[in-house]
Amino acid sequence: MREASHIVAECLNHVGGLVRPGVTPLDLNVAVDNFITKQGAYPAFKGYKVGRHTFQYAACVSVNSAVVHGIPSNEPLKNGDIISIDCGAEKDGWFGDGAWTFAVGEIAPATQKLMDVTRESLMMGVARARVGGRLFDISEAIQDYCEMHGYGVVRELVGHGIGSHLHEDPQVPNYVPSPSEGFTNLELQEGMTLAIEPMINMGTAKVKTAKDKWTVITTDGKPSAHFEHTVVVRKGGGEILTK
Ligand code: MG
Ligand code: MG
Repeated sequence: MREASHIVAECLNHVGGLVRPGVTPLDLNVAVDNFITKQGAYPAFKGYKVGRHTFQYAACVSVNSAVVHGIPSNEPLKNGDIISIDCGAEKDGWFGDGAWTFAVGEIAPATQKLMDVTRESLMMGVARARVGGRLFDISEAIQDYCEMHGYGVVRELVGHGIGSHLHEDPQVPNYVPSPSEGFTNLELQEGMTLAIEPMINMGTAKVKTAKDKWTVITTDGKPSAHFEHTVVVRKGGGEILTK
């Protein structure tokens, strides 16, 4: 997992450097695919099945009001856009998962703030991934910080356990759920591995599925940011593997 996560981190760092006006999400997807493959790993999203649908790409690229699961398009990025690039790597049967939101050229200050707060909320969640704490400590840290800034915390999509599969139990909500929602507030133990991934909207928390039946978008059309790390639960707080 350490190796797989390191590849994801290096990949996001490399591909993030390619983000500029005129580049297309499909270009970035190819860059992700090539980078991960060259490291001797497999792009974990490629061939990922949900029901009868199979995702064909190495990365999800979600532009502006797209929250997550963006299908890489051939529409050139424009100055002022923000895009999240989300990818996973499988190395020798173990997985790493990470996402980062990037600015395209010059972005509005309000959009920059959304990105900053979302990234900071991830780090607050990571700090709470500590032995003896509970899973919802992570959720609470993310929710409190983002809602304090007036942002919408997406409910329908959550972080997850990760290991020998890309998505494992437990689910890691970015808000403190009510008991009826069926999440488990696990006691965090040394060595548990979690993908923590706040998805934060500038406006309403509400999301819907786009016409492509895959991409998740905000219902008010306002931008959304997404940052994700694969993390190990440790005594003093989470250890980030996708660093
Ligand atoms: Mg994930
Ligand atoms: Mg991811």
